[in-house]
Amino acid sequence: MDIFCKIINGEIPSYKLYEDEIVLCFLDINPDTNGHCLIIPKKHYTDINDIDLDVLKHIFDVSKKIKKLLEDKLNIEGLTYIQNNGDVQEVKHFHLHLKPYYRNNEKKSVEEIYEILTK
Ligand code: AMP
Repeated sequence: MDIFCKIINGEIPSYKLYEDEIVLCFLDINPDTNGHCLIIPKKHYTDINDIDLDVLKHIFDVSKKIKKLLEDKLNIEGLTYIQNNGDVQEVKHFHLHLKPYYRNNEKKSVEEIYEILTK
């Protein structure tokens, strides 16, 4: 079982930001920037080739809520979406990266960012 399936079934903890019946959003454990997070479908899809388009649409709908959260709490100045497939994909469970951009920003720990985003 892949690591994201283990997060979904509760075997592995995560810094959860949002959850509904279709998706889960949590902070990336090794973030490129403050607030770097991942949105994953609860049902297992490997990558862009097998994901259901309705699920993909829902992921993008949810990404707008997360974008608003990042703007409100972290004052992000840009947001990059990344979705890897094949050899460049480390975890073989579909995920959309949301990577905030800041003109100037000091890197904080994942714990500190989680506190800011959830308080
Ligand atoms: P990739 O598959 O290359 O698109 O990236 C996988 C991402 O998952 C990387 O940015 C990792 O830091 C992240 N990651 C791996 N394991 C965990 C975990 N247990 N919790 C949160 N993020 C993770």
